[in-house]
Amino acid sequence: MLDKDKFHMMLNRPDILNRIRHNPEISVLVIGGGINGIATFRELALQGIDVLLVEKSDFCAGASAGSSHMLHGGIRYLENGEFRLVREALHERNLMIENAPHYAKPLPTTIPIFKWASGLLNAPLKFVRLSSKPAERGALVIKIGLMMYDFFVRKHQIMPRHQVNLKAKALEKFPHLNPEIVCTATYYDGFMAYPERLCLELLLDAEAANEKAVALNYVSAVHGAGEAVTLKDEVSGEQFEVKPALVVNAAGPWIDFANRAMQQETRFIGGTKGSHLVVDHPELLKAAAGNEIFFENNDGRIVLILPFLDRVMLGTTDIPIDDPDQAECTEDEVDYILHLVKKVFPTIHVDRSHIVFKFTGVRPLPASDAATPGQISRDHSIRVTEAGNGVNYPIFSLVGGKWTTQRAFGEQVADQLLQRLGLSRKVDTKHRAFGGGKNYPKSDVEQRRWIQQLQEKAGISAERAQTLFDRYGTYAEAIAAFCTAEQDYPLENMPDFSQREIIFLARNEKVVHVTDILLRRTLLGMLGKLNRKLVQEIATVMVEEMGWTPLDVQREVALAVETVRVKHNMELV
Ligand SMILES: Cc1cc2nc3c(=O)[nH]c(=O)nc-3n(C[C@H](O)[C@H](O)[C@H](O)COP(=O)(O)OP(=O)(O)OC[C@H]3O[C@@H](n4cnc5c(N)ncnc54)[C@H](O)[C@@H]3O)c2cc1C
Repeated sequence: MLDKDKFHMMLNRPDILNRIRHNPEISVLVIGGGINGIATFRELALQGIDVLLVEKSDFCAGASAGSSHMLHGGIRYLENGEFRLVREALHERNLMIENAPHYAKPLPTTIPIFKWASGLLNAPLKFVRLSSKPAERGALVIKIGLMMYDFFVRKHQIMPRHQVNLKAKALEKFPHLNPEIVCTATYYDGFMAYPERLCLELLLDAEAANEKAVALNYVSAVHGAGEAVTLKDEVSGEQFEVKPALVVNAAGPWIDFANRAMQQETRFIGGTKGSHLVVDHPELLKAAAGNEIFFENNDGRIVLILPFLDRVMLGTTDIPIDDPDQAECTEDEVDYILHLVKKVFPTIHVDRSHIVFKFTGVRPLPASDAATPGQISRDHSIRVTEAGNGVNYPIFSLVGGKWTTQRAFGEQVADQLLQRLGLSRKVDTKHRAFGGGKNYPKSDVEQRRWIQQLQEKAGISAERAQTLFDRYGTYAEAIAAFCTAEQDYPLENMPDFSQREIIFLARNEKVVHVTDILLRRTLLGMLGKLNRKLVQEIATVMVEEMGWTPLDVQREVALAVETVRVKHNMELV
């Protein structure tokens, strides 16, 4: 169970800011609070290093919020010859499912296959770089890929091996599937419903383990000179300096921009934009039968139809983009994605009226001259810019880095930094559970017992105990205790959340704006459950905790409406 007292020992935002103003010298500054910055921060914190992480927006609001939510080896990367990456990613996928079982779940994934032999020539040609032509893969190429997939994890096979079903059997299981298929292949990967909460839990665990490790959202790195990096508090506008021995640039698609701010001209990143739609479509959800339907279109792009709680996620695109701040889901992308669904489930009608949310992210891929985005390496690397050009510290830029490989990448970065600091590793994170995945009851029987104990201990209904467990894993215990410590009420506009639950999140999870709660501490935005009344209600519930005036509440509501409009291309009604 979670150590509840740790919450109260942790520093709040003003305390952290104050501490930095008075003690600007630190061993490591991490710029960027996406998954890669946070994974590095956690590794360093656990080794006892004094480290500060700054994030210009909220944690997990960049590329890490734009992913397809898959924990996967990346079967198609085999074709680009990225065996190291696939092997590492498959191992890390398994570790994530073991260490964060509350949010990382096994995901049966089915590929509808339309041809037997196609791609047989193209795949090896691509591998030896003699072809860049995207092509649809036939059954034999996919079978070979899946055999390799199984082989890589043969010693740590925690999920069933792949299986090929001929047309008749496949259509029995998926009656709405395009009858032009020749067969389907089903294998297992991982799914994470709550990437934003995973980020936050890793971060909070790191802070709890080391009082010299602190993280601030809404603080950006704006300039570097000499021994200093100038930081800007995006809430107050105040600027102040820190003096790090080493800097980690984990700014994802913004890496080159952040380096430029520190007087280093780099061209490490060649980002590509990917958009997703979330649809409310019970028929499509049923047709997917709990499987992610995954295939590569004949233009080489990945298509996925992914059950996402009571919604379905559809994706994705892969379009080169220079400025990540300009990324948005365009109408063309919406058309493209909706059209692809037709190819898989021709009798199911999906149109714009089913869309409840849209989101876009920019993959921080390495700058590349590959002929198509699909051929750009998805592997990660650490690019070191040594001291010079006006700054006295080396900068370690984290290029690439998938969600799935976050722990391994963070570990590799931390090892390089430890070496520079002349220190050695004390703690291994491979088998370290985190957040609400700690002491997680694994079997159905154990889960039922855990939920019943929660119900009895907190004096809440069975339904509420189940909801909290599903939402927070074993972290539910601390939340239930907080909720029941005083009179609590369900939210009028979203009764399966309670007022004190929101206050708990605001108090303990580094919340600065109401959007942090709406879009990242909960799935309310992602599942398309927001409306103006609900936003107003949540902002009002937060008033006392945040010290907001009525004018602040108005501003927060306006900010939420604007963020959803600009970043997600959606209107809140
Ligand atoms: C469409 C899409 C689909 C994907 N699907 C998957 C998938 O299914 N599975 C998978 O494993 N991976 C997937 N990925 C890849 C994965 O999501 C990313 O590679 C990963 O999240 C990158 O994390 P990051 O921390 O490097 O970057 P980010 O998450 O972008 O974090 C960088 C952070 O730095 C901050 N920042 C920038 N400049 C500054 C500054 N000057 N000061 C302070 N902060 C700053 C930004 O605000 C941002 O939050 C996908 C990515 C995309 C875009």
